Amino acid sequence: MDKIIMKTPIVEMDGDEMTRVLWKMIKDELLLPFIDLKTEYYDLGLKERDKTGDEVTFRAAEAAKRLGVAVKCATITPNAARVEEYDLHEMWKSPNGTIRAILDGTVFRAPILVKGIEPNVRTWKKPITIARHAYGDIYRNVEMVVDRPGKAELVFTGQDGTEQRALIHEFQGPGILQGVHNREDSIESFARSCFEFAIDTHQDIWFSAKDTISKQYDHTFKDIFQRIYEEEYEGRMKEAGITYFYTLIDDAVARVMKSEGGFIWACKNYDGDVMSDMISSAFGSLAMMTSVLVSPDGCFEYEAAHGTVQRHYYRYLKGEETSTNPVATIYAWTGALRKRGSLDGIPELETFADRLEKAVTDTIESGIMTGDLARMTLIPNPKTVTSLAFIREIRKKLEAACL
Ligand code: NAP
Ligand code: MG
Repeated sequence: MDKIIMKTPIVEMDGDEMTRVLWKMIKDELLLPFIDLKTEYYDLGLKERDKTGDEVTFRAAEAAKRLGVAVKCATITPNAARVEEYDLHEMWKSPNGTIRAILDGTVFRAPILVKGIEPNVRTWKKPITIARHAYGDIYRNVEMVVDRPGKAELVFTGQDGTEQRALIHEFQGPGILQGVHNREDSIESFARSCFEFAIDTHQDIWFSAKDTISKQYDHTFKDIFQRIYEEEYEGRMKEAGITYFYTLIDDAVARVMKSEGGFIWACKNYDGDVMSDMISSAFGSLAMMTSVLVSPDGCFEYEAAHGTVQRHYYRYLKGEETSTNPVATIYAWTGALRKRGSLDGIPELETFADRLEKAVTDTIESGIMTGDLARMTLIPNPKTVTSLAFIREIRKKLEAACL
């Protein structure tokens, strides 16, 4: 069998712990035997980030910007315990945060549907994709606790010396305050990423916020989406037969619960944080979730939505074989390969990605799966296997499909 030849390399960002172990298994068993794999490799493992003063993360993000397609393994975001465990020079920032800031993107997350792992919501037949704005609001807030009566005001001082003022509240006693912001350019790129992704995946897009209560803040989000839609996307979307609509967040929640799925739900930062956990758990698990960061200038970074699965890694270090689910990481690779194939005009690469995904779902539907899925499947007598045995089973199906 001839290996598939690639043109442009994919930016490969290696990571930490159990997912780093899975990363190698996936490459050895499912990619290298079939593809003449071209990647530009960056080791984002915590040791290397520490050694390079986190410069490797910045170089990897710049490479993603330059080459357009990246695939990332889960990485540790250090906290105090990790600083001690890895004897770190600094408590390095989240690599995902760094990459997001450089690419200025929106994160899209969608569940991977398999027969036998049924959504808890009966009407859901197709995946629901959450598009989460990844900048501002309460994630960049300024807060205050006040302990006495007094007047709280919102003050904006222009660079030209002008001033805008609004009374927040006259406190008669102790209370709390919060200031949040967002930027017009960030909301615009959020909107563009959403419309681009809707066209790319051929799905309708909904956007929800609370403009009836937040008549300036949320209303601005709504207005920007509407303007970008009308000025830049209406024609292309109509041509593609897909629609955009805005609705209140409460109405969106009610509609989502009664829907069949098969659309993109664009959410402000906090709503996206909360709703993506609800959607993923109602569909099954984080290990069955794809995640892609799309930048407004058309850069794609694919990853798994879960973390490094630390608890399994410690068991692995003790010599135990673990049954960690590699599906989301496999789909990160198939997403990147398919996108590279489509950009470079290599249909074999796109077909390969489809076949690999089908081999994964066929394996699970045949009753062979990792422990997390075996615990929730409706398939009778599922066979729980180790990660490696699961991947080898997928390989058998893939070989049969590629012959
Ligand atoms: P996690 O790695 O997602 O794991 C939490 C628990 O979820 C696991 O202990 C496991 O449960 C289950 N789980 C997650 N993925 C699984 C999989 N593929 N197969 C089977 N079970 C899976 O989250 P965490 O333990 O909170 O975080 C660990 C590290 O990951 C942290 O250092 C964090 O900074 C990092 N993190 C990275 C990313 C990223 O790079 N995208 C995202 C989130 C967290 P059981 O133990 O019950 O089996
Ligand atoms: Mg969350």
